[in-house]
Amino acid sequence: MKKITAFFLTAVIFAELIIISGCSQGKGKKLQIKDINGGELATLQSISDGRTELEGNDRRAYLEAVLSESESAVAEAQGCTVKKAREYLLKNECTVYTAFDDRVFESVKKAYESRGIKELDFGCAVTDLQGNLLALYSSGSIDGNYVNFATEKTPPYSSFKPLCAYAPAIENGLADWSTVYPDSPIKKIEGENGQKYDWPVNATKTYTNENTSLAYAIKTSLNTVAVRCMQTVGVKNSLDFLESKFGLTLDFEKKKAELYGEDEVIGNVALGHLYEGVSPADMAGYYQIFATGGSYRKPHTVLKICDKSGETVYENKSEEKQVIKSSTAYIMNRLLQNVVTAGGTGENARCEGVSVGGKTGTGDLGNWFVGFTPQYTCAVWHGTELVKNNACEIFSEAVSGFDNSAKKNYPSCAEIKKAAYCLDSGMLFSEKCRRADMGYFASDNIPETCNKHN
Ligand SMILES: [Zn+2]
Repeated sequence: MKKITAFFLTAVIFAELIIISGCSQGKGKKLQIKDINGGELATLQSISDGRTELEGNDRRAYLEAVLSESESAVAEAQGCTVKKAREYLLKNECTVYTAFDDRVFESVKKAYESRGIKELDFGCAVTDLQGNLLALYSSGSIDGNYVNFATEKTPPYSSFKPLCAYAPAIENGLADWSTVYPDSPIKKIEGENGQKYDWPVNATKTYTNENTSLAYAIKTSLNTVAVRCMQTVGVKNSLDFLESKFGLTLDFEKKKAELYGEDEVIGNVALGHLYEGVSPADMAGYYQIFATGGSYRKPHTVLKICDKSGETVYENKSEEKQVIKSSTAYIMNRLLQNVVTAGGTGENARCEGVSVGGKTGTGDLGNWFVGFTPQYTCAVWHGTELVKNNACEIFSEAVSGFDNSAKKNYPSCAEIKKAAYCLDSGMLFSEKCRRADMGYFASDNIPETCNKHN
Protein backbone atom coordinates (compact mmCIF):
# COMPACT_ATOMS: atom_id res chain seq x y z
CA MET A 1 0.00 0.00 0.00
CA LYS A 2 1.21 3.42 -0.92
CA LYS A 3 2.32 5.70 1.84
CA ILE A 4 1.16 9.29 1.98
CA THR A 5 4.73 10.50 1.74
CA ALA A 6 4.95 8.98 -1.75
CA PHE A 7 2.59 11.74 -2.82
CA PHE A 8 5.56 14.08 -2.95
CA LEU A 9 6.74 12.41 -6.10
CA THR A 10 4.10 13.92 -8.31
CA ALA A 11 4.30 17.38 -6.87
CA VAL A 12 6.65 19.22 -9.19
CA ILE A 13 5.39 20.62 -12.47
CA PHE A 14 5.13 24.06 -13.94
CA ALA A 15 8.12 25.54 -12.27
CA GLU A 16 8.07 28.36 -14.79
CA LEU A 17 4.53 29.50 -14.23
CA ILE A 18 3.23 31.70 -11.49
CA ILE A 19 0.10 33.60 -10.78
CA ILE A 20 0.38 37.31 -11.29
CA SER A 21 -2.22 38.94 -9.14
CA GLY A 22 -3.18 42.33 -10.50
CA CYS A 23 -1.66 41.13 -13.73
CA SER A 24 -1.46 44.51 -15.50
CA GLN A 25 2.05 44.82 -14.10
CA GLY A 26 3.18 41.54 -15.66
CA LYS A 27 5.79 41.73 -18.38
CA GLY A 28 6.42 39.23 -21.14
CA LYS A 29 4.25 36.39 -22.37
CA LYS A 30 1.11 35.44 -20.50
CA LEU A 31 -1.30 32.55 -20.29
CA GLN A 32 -4.91 33.49 -19.51
CA ILE A 33 -7.18 31.03 -17.70
CA LYS A 34 -10.94 31.64 -17.79
CA ASP A 35 -13.74 30.19 -15.68
CA ILE A 36 -16.97 28.62 -16.92
CA ASN A 37 -18.55 32.05 -17.44
CA GLY A 38 -15.58 33.46 -19.31
CA GLY A 39 -14.44 35.42 -16.27
CA GLU A 40 -10.77 35.62 -15.37
CA LEU A 41 -9.57 32.78 -13.15
CA ALA A 42 -5.84 33.46 -13.38
CA THR A 43 -3.11 34.97 -15.50
CA LEU A 44 0.21 33.16 -15.59
CA GLN A 45 3.60 34.39 -16.65
CA SER A 46 6.84 32.65 -17.38
CA ILE A 47 9.46 32.85 -14.66
CA SER A 48 12.22 30.59 -13.50
CA ASP A 49 12.33 30.59 -9.74
CA GLY A 50 9.71 28.03 -8.90
CA ARG A 51 6.10 27.52 -8.16
CA THR A 52 6.27 28.39 -4.52
CA GLU A 53 4.74 31.67 -5.58
CA LEU A 54 1.49 29.76 -6.18
CA GLU A 55 1.22 29.32 -2.44
CA GLY A 56 -1.75 30.95 -0.84
CA ASN A 57 -3.87 30.83 -3.99
CA ASP A 58 -6.96 28.93 -2.87
CA ARG A 59 -7.71 27.89 -6.46
CA ARG A 60 -4.33 26.25 -6.80
CA ALA A 61 -5.67 22.67 -6.90
CA TYR A 62 -7.81 23.55 -9.88
CA LEU A 63 -5.10 25.57 -11.63
CA GLU A 64 -2.62 22.72 -11.24
CA ALA A 65 -5.08 20.39 -12.96
CA VAL A 66 -5.77 22.95 -15.71
CA LEU A 67 -2.07 23.38 -16.41
CA SER A 68 -1.39 19.67 -16.41
CA GLU A 69 -4.31 18.98 -18.75
CA SER A 70 -3.43 21.91 -21.04
CA GLU A 71 0.15 20.69 -21.39
CA SER A 72 -0.96 17.17 -22.26
CA ALA A 73 -3.60 18.41 -24.70
CA VAL A 74 -1.19 20.69 -26.55
CA ALA A 75 1.56 18.06 -26.52
CA GLU A 76 -0.81 15.61 -28.15
CA ALA A 77 -2.23 18.15 -30.63
CA GLN A 78 1.22 19.40 -31.63
CA GLY A 79 2.99 16.07 -31.37
CA CYS A 80 5.57 17.56 -29.05
CA THR A 81 6.93 17.02 -25.54
CA VAL A 82 5.17 18.32 -22.46
CA LYS A 83 7.98 20.81 -21.91
CA LYS A 84 7.59 22.16 -25.46
CA ALA A 85 3.83 22.32 -24.95
CA ARG A 86 4.35 24.50 -21.88
CA GLU A 87 6.56 26.84 -23.87
CA TYR A 88 3.99 26.88 -26.67
CA LEU A 89 1.18 27.90 -24.30
CA LEU A 90 3.17 30.88 -23.10
CA LYS A 91 4.83 31.85 -26.37
CA ASN A 92 1.47 31.96 -28.13
CA GLU A 93 -0.18 33.75 -25.20
CA CYS A 94 -2.91 31.16 -25.13
CA THR A 95 -6.24 31.45 -23.36
CA VAL A 96 -7.53 28.33 -21.60
CA TYR A 97 -11.30 28.10 -21.14
CA THR A 98 -12.18 25.90 -18.18
CA ALA A 99 -15.21 24.48 -16.35
CA PHE A 100 -14.35 26.23 -13.06
CA ASP A 101 -17.55 27.30 -11.30
CA ASP A 102 -17.00 29.95 -8.67
CA ARG A 103 -20.21 29.29 -6.77
CA VAL A 104 -19.45 25.60 -6.45
CA PHE A 105 -15.86 26.32 -5.40
CA GLU A 106 -16.83 28.89 -2.78
CA SER A 107 -19.38 26.51 -1.29
CA VAL A 108 -16.79 23.71 -0.99
CA LYS A 109 -14.27 26.09 0.54
CA LYS A 110 -16.80 27.39 3.03
CA ALA A 111 -17.65 23.86 4.15
CA TYR A 112 -14.02 23.41 5.24
CA GLU A 113 -13.46 26.90 6.56
CA SER A 114 -16.59 26.81 8.69
CA ARG A 115 -15.01 23.84 10.50
CA GLY A 116 -11.66 25.53 10.81
CA ILE A 117 -10.07 22.85 8.62
CA LYS A 118 -7.03 24.30 6.91
CA GLU A 119 -3.78 22.56 7.66
CA LEU A 120 -4.71 18.89 7.63
CA ASP A 121 -4.86 16.73 4.51
CA PHE A 122 -8.02 16.78 2.42
CA GLY A 123 -9.07 16.80 -1.21
CA CYS A 124 -12.43 17.42 -2.86
CA ALA A 125 -13.65 17.27 -6.46
CA VAL A 126 -17.00 18.28 -7.96
CA THR A 127 -18.27 17.54 -11.47
CA ASP A 128 -21.51 18.26 -13.27
CA LEU A 129 -23.06 15.25 -14.99
CA GLN A 130 -21.16 15.84 -18.25
CA GLY A 131 -17.74 15.23 -16.71
CA ASN A 132 -16.91 18.92 -16.32
CA LEU A 133 -14.84 19.41 -13.20
CA LEU A 134 -16.45 22.46 -11.61
CA ALA A 135 -14.19 22.70 -8.58
CA LEU A 136 -11.17 21.06 -6.98
CA TYR A 137 -10.04 21.92 -3.50
CA SER A 138 -7.06 20.64 -1.56
CA SER A 139 -5.31 21.35 1.71
CA GLY A 140 -2.31 20.68 -0.46
CA SER A 141 0.66 20.48 1.84
CA ILE A 142 2.83 17.81 3.41
CA ASP A 143 5.74 19.23 5.39
CA GLY A 144 5.65 22.37 3.28
CA ASN A 145 5.56 20.52 -0.06
CA TYR A 146 2.49 21.10 -2.18
CA VAL A 147 0.37 18.04 -2.99
CA ASN A 148 -2.87 18.28 -4.91
CA PHE A 149 -5.04 15.88 -2.93
CA ALA A 150 -7.99 16.50 -5.29
CA THR A 151 -6.10 14.68 -8.06
CA GLU A 152 -3.74 12.54 -5.99
CA LYS A 153 -4.40 8.80 -5.99
CA THR A 154 -5.10 6.98 -2.74
CA PRO A 155 -7.08 3.83 -1.82
CA PRO A 156 -10.86 4.41 -2.18
CA TYR A 157 -11.83 1.71 0.35
CA SER A 158 -15.55 0.94 0.49
CA SER A 159 -16.49 3.78 -1.85
CA PHE A 160 -15.11 1.44 -4.54
CA LYS A 161 -17.55 -1.42 -3.82
CA PRO A 162 -20.37 -0.06 -6.03
CA LEU A 163 -17.96 0.24 -8.98
CA CYS A 164 -15.98 -2.99 -8.69
CA ALA A 165 -18.53 -5.42 -7.27
CA TYR A 166 -22.16 -4.36 -7.10
CA ALA A 167 -22.61 -2.61 -10.47
CA PRO A 168 -20.92 -5.39 -12.50
CA ALA A 169 -22.90 -8.05 -10.58
CA ILE A 170 -26.22 -6.37 -11.35
CA GLU A 171 -25.21 -5.45 -14.91
CA ASN A 172 -24.47 -9.10 -15.69
CA GLY A 173 -27.53 -10.53 -13.95
CA LEU A 174 -25.38 -12.20 -11.26
CA ALA A 175 -27.16 -10.44 -8.43
CA ASP A 176 -30.01 -8.05 -7.85
CA TRP A 177 -31.38 -5.79 -5.14
CA SER A 178 -32.56 -8.62 -2.94
CA THR A 179 -29.89 -11.29 -3.48
CA VAL A 180 -28.92 -12.67 -0.09
CA TYR A 181 -25.42 -13.54 1.05
CA PRO A 182 -24.30 -14.89 4.43
CA ASP A 183 -22.91 -12.10 6.61
CA SER A 184 -20.20 -14.35 7.97
CA PRO A 185 -16.45 -14.81 7.51
CA ILE A 186 -15.33 -16.69 4.40
CA LYS A 187 -12.17 -18.18 5.86
CA LYS A 188 -9.51 -17.97 8.53
CA ILE A 189 -6.26 -16.26 7.74
CA GLU A 190 -3.05 -16.39 9.68
CA GLY A 191 -1.77 -13.18 11.26
CA GLU A 192 1.86 -12.20 11.76
CA ASN A 193 1.94 -13.79 15.20
CA GLY A 194 0.65 -17.12 13.85
CA GLN A 195 -2.83 -16.58 15.23
CA LYS A 196 -5.83 -17.33 13.01
CA TYR A 197 -8.28 -14.58 12.20
CA ASP A 198 -11.72 -14.48 10.57
CA TRP A 199 -11.71 -12.86 7.14
CA PRO A 200 -13.08 -10.58 5.83
CA VAL A 201 -13.72 -8.40 8.85
CA ASN A 202 -16.68 -6.01 8.92
CA ALA A 203 -16.02 -2.46 10.08
CA THR A 204 -18.04 -3.21 13.22
CA LYS A 205 -15.82 -6.29 13.84
CA THR A 206 -19.08 -8.29 14.17
CA TYR A 207 -21.11 -10.64 11.96
CA THR A 208 -24.82 -11.43 12.06
CA ASN A 209 -24.14 -14.87 10.54
CA GLU A 210 -27.47 -14.55 8.75
CA ASN A 211 -28.56 -14.14 5.17
CA THR A 212 -28.27 -10.46 4.31
CA SER A 213 -29.66 -8.70 1.26
CA LEU A 214 -27.36 -6.89 -1.12
CA ALA A 215 -29.38 -3.70 -0.41
CA TYR A 216 -28.75 -3.89 3.34
CA ALA A 217 -25.10 -4.78 2.80
CA ILE A 218 -24.53 -1.63 0.73
CA LYS A 219 -26.39 0.56 3.18
CA THR A 220 -24.28 -0.64 6.09
CA SER A 221 -21.09 -1.32 4.10
CA LEU A 222 -20.66 -5.01 5.01
CA ASN A 223 -17.27 -6.30 3.86
CA THR A 224 -18.39 -9.94 4.00
CA VAL A 225 -21.06 -9.37 1.37
CA ALA A 226 -18.86 -7.18 -0.85
CA VAL A 227 -16.27 -9.97 -1.05
CA ARG A 228 -18.92 -12.67 -1.59
CA CYS A 229 -20.49 -10.57 -4.35
CA MET A 230 -17.04 -10.15 -5.90
CA GLN A 231 -16.65 -13.94 -5.81
CA THR A 232 -19.67 -14.23 -8.10
CA VAL A 233 -18.33 -11.52 -10.43
CA GLY A 234 -14.73 -12.74 -10.49
CA VAL A 235 -11.69 -10.52 -10.06
CA LYS A 236 -10.71 -10.65 -13.72
CA ASN A 237 -14.22 -9.71 -14.83
CA SER A 238 -14.27 -6.86 -12.34
CA LEU A 239 -10.93 -5.51 -13.55
CA ASP A 240 -12.08 -5.87 -17.16
CA PHE A 241 -15.28 -4.01 -16.29
CA LEU A 242 -13.37 -1.10 -14.73
CA GLU A 243 -11.00 -0.88 -17.66
CA SER A 244 -13.59 -1.13 -20.41
CA LYS A 245 -16.07 1.27 -18.79
CA PHE A 246 -13.72 3.88 -17.34
CA GLY A 247 -10.29 3.20 -18.76
CA LEU A 248 -9.18 2.43 -15.19
CA THR A 249 -6.32 -0.05 -15.32
CA LEU A 250 -5.30 -1.59 -12.00
CA ASP A 251 -2.05 -3.11 -13.20
CA PHE A 252 -0.71 -4.13 -9.79
CA GLU A 253 -3.85 -6.05 -8.89
CA LYS A 254 -4.10 -7.53 -12.39
CA LYS A 255 -0.51 -8.78 -12.29
CA LYS A 256 -0.90 -10.17 -8.79
CA ALA A 257 -4.05 -12.06 -9.79
CA GLU A 258 -2.26 -13.52 -12.80
CA LEU A 259 0.78 -14.57 -10.79
CA TYR A 260 -0.79 -15.84 -7.59
CA GLY A 261 -4.48 -16.38 -8.39
CA GLU A 262 -7.61 -14.31 -7.88
CA ASP A 263 -7.98 -15.23 -4.22
CA GLU A 264 -4.76 -13.35 -3.45
CA VAL A 265 -6.24 -10.07 -4.57
CA ILE A 266 -10.00 -10.42 -4.20
CA GLY A 267 -10.14 -8.56 -0.88
CA ASN A 268 -7.97 -5.73 -2.15
CA VAL A 269 -10.23 -5.14 -5.15
CA ALA A 270 -13.61 -5.78 -3.48
CA LEU A 271 -12.79 -3.57 -0.49
CA GLY A 272 -10.93 -0.86 -2.43
CA HIS A 273 -7.52 -1.44 -0.85
CA LEU A 274 -5.90 -0.57 -4.14
CA TYR A 275 -2.14 -0.34 -4.49
CA GLU A 276 -2.09 2.76 -6.63
CA GLY A 277 -5.53 4.05 -5.83
CA VAL A 278 -7.82 6.60 -7.41
CA SER A 279 -8.24 10.33 -6.92
CA PRO A 280 -11.26 12.33 -5.76
CA ALA A 281 -11.48 13.70 -9.34
CA ASP A 282 -11.51 10.11 -10.69
CA MET A 283 -14.17 9.01 -8.22
CA ALA A 284 -16.39 12.02 -8.91
CA GLY A 285 -16.13 11.04 -12.57
CA TYR A 286 -17.00 7.36 -12.04
CA TYR A 287 -20.02 8.14 -9.87
CA GLN A 288 -21.61 10.03 -12.78
CA ILE A 289 -22.98 6.69 -14.00
CA PHE A 290 -25.26 6.40 -10.97
CA ALA A 291 -26.86 9.81 -11.55
CA THR A 292 -27.03 9.92 -15.36
CA GLY A 293 -28.79 6.65 -16.08
CA GLY A 294 -25.49 4.97 -16.93
CA SER A 295 -23.48 7.42 -19.03
CA TYR A 296 -19.89 8.43 -18.33
CA ARG A 297 -17.59 11.15 -19.58
CA LYS A 298 -14.01 11.39 -18.42
CA PRO A 299 -13.67 14.26 -15.93
CA HIS A 300 -11.81 17.28 -17.24
CA THR A 301 -11.13 20.91 -16.40
CA VAL A 302 -10.18 22.22 -19.86
CA LEU A 303 -12.87 22.97 -22.43
CA LYS A 304 -10.88 24.83 -25.08
CA ILE A 305 -7.51 26.45 -25.70
CA CYS A 306 -7.04 29.35 -28.12
CA ASP A 307 -3.89 31.19 -29.14
CA LYS A 308 -3.57 34.99 -29.07
CA SER A 309 -5.15 35.37 -32.50
CA GLY A 310 -8.20 33.45 -31.29
CA GLU A 311 -7.35 30.33 -33.28
CA THR A 312 -8.46 27.14 -31.53
CA VAL A 313 -5.44 25.08 -30.51
CA TYR A 314 -7.40 22.39 -28.67
CA GLU A 315 -11.03 21.62 -27.97
CA ASN A 316 -12.32 18.93 -25.64
CA LYS A 317 -14.55 16.85 -27.86
CA SER A 318 -14.80 13.79 -25.63
CA GLU A 319 -18.32 12.41 -25.63
CA GLU A 320 -20.56 10.81 -23.06
CA LYS A 321 -20.69 7.04 -23.39
CA GLN A 322 -23.47 4.81 -22.12
CA VAL A 323 -21.33 2.39 -20.09
CA ILE A 324 -23.94 0.43 -18.12
CA LYS A 325 -27.60 -0.37 -18.75
CA SER A 326 -30.04 2.28 -17.61
CA SER A 327 -31.74 -0.36 -15.43
CA THR A 328 -28.44 -1.10 -13.64
CA ALA A 329 -27.86 2.62 -13.13
CA TYR A 330 -31.38 3.04 -11.77
CA ILE A 331 -31.03 0.20 -9.26
CA MET A 332 -27.56 1.35 -8.14
CA ASN A 333 -28.90 4.90 -7.79
CA ARG A 334 -31.66 3.68 -5.46
CA LEU A 335 -29.29 1.45 -3.51
CA LEU A 336 -26.91 4.36 -2.98
CA GLN A 337 -29.72 6.71 -1.98
CA ASN A 338 -30.48 4.26 0.84
CA VAL A 339 -26.93 4.71 2.16
CA VAL A 340 -27.87 8.32 2.90
CA THR A 341 -30.96 7.43 4.96
CA ALA A 342 -31.33 6.69 8.68
CA GLY A 343 -29.10 3.78 9.67
CA GLY A 344 -26.92 4.04 6.56
CA THR A 345 -23.21 4.77 6.81
CA GLY A 346 -23.72 7.96 4.76
CA GLU A 347 -26.60 9.28 6.83
CA ASN A 348 -24.80 12.56 7.55
CA ALA A 349 -24.43 13.33 3.84
CA ARG A 350 -28.13 14.16 3.56
CA CYS A 351 -28.96 17.57 2.08
CA GLU A 352 -32.18 19.41 2.78
CA GLY A 353 -34.32 19.49 -0.37
CA VAL A 354 -31.75 17.69 -2.55
CA SER A 355 -31.87 14.02 -3.51
CA VAL A 356 -28.50 12.47 -2.60
CA GLY A 357 -26.92 9.06 -3.05
CA GLY A 358 -23.40 7.93 -2.29
CA LYS A 359 -20.99 5.70 -0.46
CA THR A 360 -18.55 6.02 2.39
CA GLY A 361 -15.05 4.57 2.51
CA THR A 362 -12.77 4.26 5.53
CA GLY A 363 -9.27 2.92 5.95
CA ASP A 364 -5.74 3.47 7.20
CA LEU A 365 -4.97 6.26 4.71
CA GLY A 366 -8.12 8.27 5.06
CA ASN A 367 -11.85 8.35 4.73
CA TRP A 368 -14.20 9.14 1.86
CA PHE A 369 -17.65 10.09 0.88
CA VAL A 370 -18.41 9.96 -2.82
CA GLY A 371 -21.90 11.08 -3.74
CA PHE A 372 -24.21 12.44 -6.38
CA THR A 373 -27.32 14.56 -6.85
CA PRO A 374 -29.49 15.05 -9.98
CA GLN A 375 -26.97 17.72 -11.11
CA TYR A 376 -23.58 16.98 -9.56
CA THR A 377 -21.14 14.42 -8.26
CA CYS A 378 -18.83 15.25 -5.37
CA ALA A 379 -15.97 13.20 -3.93
CA VAL A 380 -14.50 14.08 -0.55
CA TRP A 381 -11.30 12.50 0.77
CA HIS A 382 -9.86 13.19 4.22
CA GLY A 383 -6.53 12.13 5.62
CA THR A 384 -6.68 10.14 8.81
CA GLU A 385 -6.04 13.14 11.03
CA LEU A 386 -9.40 14.41 9.88
CA VAL A 387 -11.43 11.35 10.77
CA LYS A 388 -13.45 13.26 13.30
CA ASN A 389 -14.45 15.75 10.63
CA ASN A 390 -16.69 13.40 8.76
CA ALA A 391 -16.42 13.54 4.96
CA CYS A 392 -20.21 13.11 4.83
CA GLU A 393 -20.78 16.38 6.64
CA ILE A 394 -18.42 18.26 4.33
CA PHE A 395 -20.29 16.79 1.36
CA SER A 396 -23.63 17.82 2.80
CA GLU A 397 -22.62 21.37 3.56
CA ALA A 398 -20.80 21.88 0.25
CA VAL A 399 -23.59 20.46 -1.92
CA SER A 400 -26.26 22.41 -0.03
CA GLY A 401 -24.58 25.60 -1.22
CA PHE A 402 -24.61 24.68 -4.93
CA ASP A 403 -27.34 25.88 -7.28
CA ASN A 404 -29.53 22.79 -7.10
CA SER A 405 -32.57 24.33 -8.78
CA ALA A 406 -32.14 23.13 -12.37
CA LYS A 407 -32.99 19.47 -11.87
CA LYS A 408 -34.72 17.71 -9.00
CA ASN A 409 -35.01 14.13 -10.26
CA TYR A 410 -32.86 11.37 -11.73
CA PRO A 411 -33.65 9.82 -15.12
CA SER A 412 -36.55 7.38 -15.00
CA CYS A 413 -36.26 3.86 -16.42
CA ALA A 414 -39.07 1.91 -18.08
CA GLU A 415 -37.38 -1.46 -17.50
CA ILE A 416 -37.75 -1.35 -13.72
CA LYS A 417 -40.27 -3.08 -11.50
CA LYS A 418 -40.75 -2.22 -7.84
CA ALA A 419 -41.71 -5.28 -5.80
CA ALA A 420 -41.77 -6.75 -2.30
CA TYR A 421 -39.25 -9.49 -1.61
CA CYS A 422 -38.56 -12.04 1.10
CA LEU A 423 -35.68 -11.00 3.36
CA ASP A 424 -34.80 -14.62 4.14
CA SER A 425 -34.53 -15.94 0.58
CA GLY A 426 -34.16 -12.79 -1.54
CA MET A 427 -36.98 -14.11 -3.73
CA LEU A 428 -40.23 -12.29 -4.46
CA PHE A 429 -42.57 -12.11 -1.47
CA SER A 430 -45.13 -14.84 -0.94
CA GLU A 431 -47.89 -15.04 1.69
CA LYS A 432 -45.84 -17.52 3.70
CA CYS A 433 -42.76 -15.30 4.03
CA ARG A 434 -41.96 -13.95 7.48
CA ARG A 435 -40.06 -10.75 6.66
CA ALA A 436 -40.30 -8.52 3.61
CA ASP A 437 -38.94 -5.31 2.16
CA MET A 438 -39.36 -3.39 -1.09
CA GLY A 439 -36.80 -3.44 -3.87
CA TYR A 440 -36.22 -2.39 -7.46
CA PHE A 441 -35.57 -5.00 -10.12
CA ALA A 442 -34.65 -4.99 -13.81
CA SER A 443 -37.67 -6.33 -15.69
CA ASP A 444 -35.47 -8.97 -17.35
CA ASN A 445 -33.98 -10.10 -14.02
CA ILE A 446 -36.84 -10.52 -11.56
CA PRO A 447 -36.48 -13.21 -8.88
CA GLU A 448 -38.98 -16.04 -8.70
CA THR A 449 -41.60 -16.12 -5.97
CA CYS A 450 -40.34 -17.41 -2.65
CA ASN A 451 -40.90 -21.14 -2.06
CA LYS A 452 -38.77 -21.52 1.07
CA HIS A 453 -41.48 -21.54 3.73
CA ASN A 454 -43.88 -24.31 2.73
ZN1 LIG B 1 -39.78 -16.23 1.82
